[in-house]
Amino acid sequence: MGLIVQKFGGTSVADTAKIKNVAQAVIKEKLNGNNVIVVVSAMGHTTDNLLKLSKEITSNPSTREMDMLLSTGEQISMSLLAMAINEAGHSAVSLTGYQVGIKTENCHMCARIVDIETARVKKLLNEGKIVIVAGFQGVCEGNEITTLGRGGSDTTAVALACAFGADRCDIYSDVEGVYTADPRVIKTAKKLDKISYEEMLELARVGANVLHPRSVETAKPYKMPMRVRSSFKLDDLGTLIIGVEEMELNKPVTGFACDNSQIRIVICDVVDEPGNAAKLFNLLASKDLSVDMIIQSYARHSNNTNDIAFTIAKSDLDKFNSLKDDINNIVKASNILVDEDIAKVSIVGAGMIDRPGIAAKMFDTLATSNINIKMISTSEIKISCLVEKQYGELAAKVLCRAFDLDGAAIADVKGDLPD
Ligand code: ADP
Ligand code: ASP
Ligand code: MG
Repeated sequence: MGLIVQKFGGTSVADTAKIKNVAQAVIKEKLNGNNVIVVVSAMGHTTDNLLKLSKEITSNPSTREMDMLLSTGEQISMSLLAMAINEAGHSAVSLTGYQVGIKTENCHMCARIVDIETARVKKLLNEGKIVIVAGFQGVCEGNEITTLGRGGSDTTAVALACAFGADRCDIYSDVEGVYTADPRVIKTAKKLDKISYEEMLELARVGANVLHPRSVETAKPYKMPMRVRSSFKLDDLGTLIIGVEEMELNKPVTGFACDNSQIRIVICDVVDEPGNAAKLFNLLASKDLSVDMIIQSYARHSNNTNDIAFTIAKSDLDKFNSLKDDINNIVKASNILVDEDIAKVSIVGAGMIDRPGIAAKMFDTLATSNINIKMISTSEIKISCLVEKQYGELAAKVLCRAFDLDGAAIADVKGDLPD
């Protein structure tokens, strides 16, 4: 008997009619002769609404209490789904992360899963039950409830699939698979039949929020086959995520993503001497501030200083502001600039390895549309450019056209696109 892990996102369980639809998808998999573990997200916008409620009480809630609050969303959907399956004549049991034994690091709101106990779920599966698990949550030392960060139910599903040696992990969402770009932004984006873990991981990290990056990170070493598919078109196989060695790399660029959730910080006139960058980034790390792109300018000969620019998540701005005095004390900057008006546009493709000219083509394409590049970062299979936020959408359109990621011909796009 096979084992399939299915994960249903917030839109898939947004109301009771949709939960009944999900129950049918689960039962279908069970009737295929498989054991089934199901992971659910909170219904619709429940998590956003819980966040809003906390903000009505305080601007500075403890992260422990936030986890107590946010973890309740998934408990509603898991129990309703178990009821829907039972009502349809099958047998399901819902469990919280704590009840399963999903052990995480001692960290609130962004915890990583470190271990999963298998005994209770195995026993239930052996009794023929369908096991429904609350996504996005776990438990750390002292039996404290933790959550995995926004979108973390994908990671719960993949971690369970790996822990139980599942045959596949199906991530059901409101899209029919992974597309060359966000299909809500690029209407003509193409659905991919397959994508490699490496490319999907880069795309997820640079803003394609169709999957939580850590879910792909978790699947990759186990070679756990993942499918992203639609909960509204159950017969569609969606997109299969597999090892790069099983892919044919015909095109240099597989996908595009735009991330509007970052801000740029410029630390001006840092004295050019050994240790300053280390002091600065150690300080940021000590406050759990994650930094993405980093640029240090060449030293200016007149006063032997340079500027250090980097990007952080917009949601970390308050944390960063609380460090400004310390930064000034440590690196004696002449000024600290915060630029919130940015978008990061990225192209990703395993086929760009050893293929010259891809970066040049990206920069040319942006230049032809008069889009200025503020920062650049690269990895072996990704090139990201920071541009002014107002040009994010135009950059998406011209880059998708230039790298053949859309189905439509956008003729001669320069400057603003017509509506
Ligand atoms: P869920 O609630 O099911 O977890 P998410 O909202 O987290 O769903 O992820 C699905 C959304 O991801 C889609 O609605 C789509 O707008 C967005 N998305 C961004 N980039 C892509 C992409 N490359 N392919 C498919 N969807 C994408
Ligand atoms: N409910 C959580 C969120 O909205 C987790 C998830 O949906 O994956 O971020
Ligand atoms: Mg999601």
